[in-house]
Amino acid sequence: MTAEIEEAVAAAGDDMHGLMRRLYPICRSLAGPGNRQTLDILSETMPLERIEVPSGTAVFDWAVPDEWVPRAAEIVGPDGVARARFADHNLHLVSHSEPVDLELERDDLLAHVFTLPDQPDVVPYVTRYYRRDWGFCMTERQKASLPPGRYRVRIDAELRPGALSIGETVLAGRSPREILIVTYICHPSMANDNLSGVVVAQAAHALVRRFARRQFSYRFLFVPETIGSIAWLALNRETVRERTHAALVLSCLGSDAPFTYKASRRGDAEIDRAARLVLADRGDVIPFSPVTGSDERQFCSPGFDLPAGLLSRAYPGTFAEYHTSADTPDRIAPATLAGGLRAVFDICDALERNATSYRRADPYGEPMLSKRDLYDATSVRKGRDFDRRRDPRTALMWVANLADGTHSLFDMAERSGLSVAALSDAAERAADAEILVRQDRIA
Ligand code: ZN
Repeated sequence: MTAEIEEAVAAAGDDMHGLMRRLYPICRSLAGPGNRQTLDILSETMPLERIEVPSGTAVFDWAVPDEWVPRAAEIVGPDGVARARFADHNLHLVSHSEPVDLELERDDLLAHVFTLPDQPDVVPYVTRYYRRDWGFCMTERQKASLPPGRYRVRIDAELRPGALSIGETVLAGRSPREILIVTYICHPSMANDNLSGVVVAQAAHALVRRFARRQFSYRFLFVPETIGSIAWLALNRETVRERTHAALVLSCLGSDAPFTYKASRRGDAEIDRAARLVLADRGDVIPFSPVTGSDERQFCSPGFDLPAGLLSRAYPGTFAEYHTSADTPDRIAPATLAGGLRAVFDICDALERNATSYRRADPYGEPMLSKRDLYDATSVRKGRDFDRRRDPRTALMWVANLADGTHSLFDMAERSGLSVAALSDAAERAADAEILVRQDRIA
């Protein structure tokens, strides 16, 4: 990574955090004005095309839901005190609650109240996407303090036919083959899950636009989780397999835990190999599972079986703030977001580099490096501190040997233990010196 890119990544940390704070108050859901407002804000810095899929549209085994338009909600107790006000925190209202205005006894109300008893000071995130119902979320302590008596419950909200909103944009590259970066915009006020993914995707677009070699085209996709991916896949079913070289779903990049990359269903796709090579000293690669995670499950459904992995830090569902009011922007450092951005860029950069392969112009014997100024000719014994892995000559010797027309840069990196970037830089130098011949691996 050049110093210029390094600087741009570091500088993006504060911008991402600022965008996160701006998006945090908005009440998003599967479909509705909060999602459009989110896409409007993202559109200020990237040319997002808006796709609106009408409510009721059949998409594979699913149907696009109605829009949810929440305006106000509260519970007023027998003591006259208003509780669980939507205006105070949008997690107080169960997502996709239907409108109600009724009076009921405390015990009947409690059937509609959700808490987390083992985390008594946080409000949980609860959804009722596909069942007409209503509910409130509060802290366990708030629930325990509800006095007996009659309550007035008021939810001013609409569930109405409209459309599900998707934002999409493409940066064209040399090849029409695409690297697809996907994240989800359906969560209300929570920062790590998943505004971290949203702001890293936005910053990745800016970084790729400025710096990527762009052998590949890049498609950035902002969808409501699950139903949005399914709807998008239904719209793209004829072409998506053909054109997708790699797909990366971004989720929960805000914790300072090491990275977790969940491999595609295939397990050995180029994106999986890129993540293994790039993240070797930054985290773990875990195998595909259809049970947890995010939209990679739709992209890896058997009919598509796309090379799609999930990049997170602490894996979704494994951290204490997950799906609660404790998941706030002030827990997330700009530098953490910058680290997430860097991981995304490095994975893309590895794929870019691996799009070129190299073949020895003359494969017989080792090439003579000194006559091409590629070898430090002063032949002194190497000192104790000499690190052969970091010696540029080491990468040069590996590429000069393995550039036989059958090994990709990833093959060379896996075999040598050297980084893709070091091997690629060495191969480029050797190609400039006409020791190697470049070939496009990707049509
Ligand atoms: Zn979530």
